[in-house]
Amino acid sequence: MTVEDRFLDATDKSYKASKHRDELIIVERNVNVKYKKSYGGISRYFQGIMKKEDSVLLYTFCANESGHDEPRVIHYQVPRADCAECYCLTTWAKLSGQSKFFVETKSTAVSLAGISFMNDLPVTVAWIRTVLPDVTELDTLAAGMVAIKDYDGLVKGDELRPVFRQEPKATASDVMWVRKDSVEIPEGYTPSKHYAL
Ligand SMILES: [Zn+2]
Repeated sequence: MTVEDRFLDATDKSYKASKHRDELIIVERNVNVKYKKSYGGISRYFQGIMKKEDSVLLYTFCANESGHDEPRVIHYQVPRADCAECYCLTTWAKLSGQSKFFVETKSTAVSLAGISFMNDLPVTVAWIRTVLPDVTELDTLAAGMVAIKDYDGLVKGDELRPVFRQEPKATASDVMWVRKDSVEIPEGYTPSKHYAL
C-alpha cells in the first residue's frame, strides 16, 4: 500500500461543507490499495442499483419474530444476508416507488467498511429513513450520497429520491440522492423508471 498526502489550499471545494473553514486543514490523500472485494450475500443489492433506468433498491427483512429481542419483524434498509438478532437468513424485497425516503441527519465523515464515497470529496452524506407504502418504517438508516449544492440546505424530514449511475461501478455510490421534485440530476446519474422524482 502506498500513501501520499498533498495539502489542499482553502479555495478547494472540499472546504465548502465545513462550518469551521478558518481552522480546517484538508489534504488530498492518495492511497493505492489493490484487492479483490466480494459483496457476498448482499450482492443482490448491488445488482439492483446497477441497472441504470431499470434500477431497484432492495432491502431485507427477518420475520422470525420469536427469535428477536422484541417480537417483531426486523427490516434492514442496508441489506443483511442474515439477521443481526437471530442469525436466520433474511428475505429480500424491493422498495417500491411509493416508498418515502426522509433525511434523518447528515454527515461529512463516514467510515463504513467498503464505503465508496471517498472518490467524491467532500463526502456529503444524508442518513436516510425509509417508510414503506404501508407506513412500516425500516429499522436501520442508510447513508446516501447527496450533491454538495444540496447538502447545506437539507434538514431533517426533507424528502429525497434516488438516482442511479449511468455507468455503474458496483459501488454504493452507484445510487445518489436528490430532493424530491428535483429537476437537476447530478452529472452521470439518471432516474430509474421505478422511482419517479
Ligand atoms: Zn431475525
